[in-house]
Amino acid sequence: MKIAIDGPAGSGKSTIAKLIAKNLNITYIDTGAMYRAVTLYFMDKNIPANDLDSIKHELPNIELEFIDNQMHMNQKNVSLEIRTPRVTNNVSNYAKIDIIREDLQNKQKFIALKQSVIMDGRDIGTVVLKDADFKFFLVATVLERARRRLIDLNREGYQMDINLLIEEIERRDAIDASRDHSPLKKADDAIEIDTSKLTIDEVIEKIENIIKRG
Ligand code: C5P
Repeated sequence: MKIAIDGPAGSGKSTIAKLIAKNLNITYIDTGAMYRAVTLYFMDKNIPANDLDSIKHELPNIELEFIDNQMHMNQKNVSLEIRTPRVTNNVSNYAKIDIIREDLQNKQKFIALKQSVIMDGRDIGTVVLKDADFKFFLVATVLERARRRLIDLNREGYQMDINLLIEEIERRDAIDASRDHSPLKKADDAIEIDTSKLTIDEVIEKIENIIKRG
């Protein structure tokens, strides 16, 4: 079974996908975490997104692995570091680079070859799991998405002005939706769900009902 969940930043994809994976006993793959880990790697090495030669040279040195839903990069658990504002504010600039996208998309397709998966991201329904059994595209108002991000950040110990979060989300969505290579886009055969006024349980129920009906 292959399930694709796409949508803009903060639309609830990862929370929902993680819980559905648990209920269906299948593997959850957070592809955003992979783009974030690669961004962290290049930023720590002071390699800017426009230094394509260095990026091409270094890409094969980045080993990514999910262990218990935690993102490991070169044997180090980077799950917390990849959520810092430093990474969040830069990830879209690295995620629009063709060689990075092709490298990560190949890794994602390879993971899905061997097992049942639910993957969330921006290009899962359109590219990575084009043949998925079920495709969903989650949307929500930018205000609601910023509110959810704020709750997450507060929980992780960060304080932030909601207006700055709205700006960050809109900027990231604009870069993700306008890039040439596999942009953020609803697949033609994806089911769109507006989560603005729904609880997590309600979204899960909607999705699981669709899956049950086949
Ligand atoms: O899902 P999350 O918000 O953690 O993703 C972080 C960033 O990674 C996105 O804003 C986007 O730039 C990039 N991304 C992507 N394609 C995916 C998943 C994430 O370009 N499939």
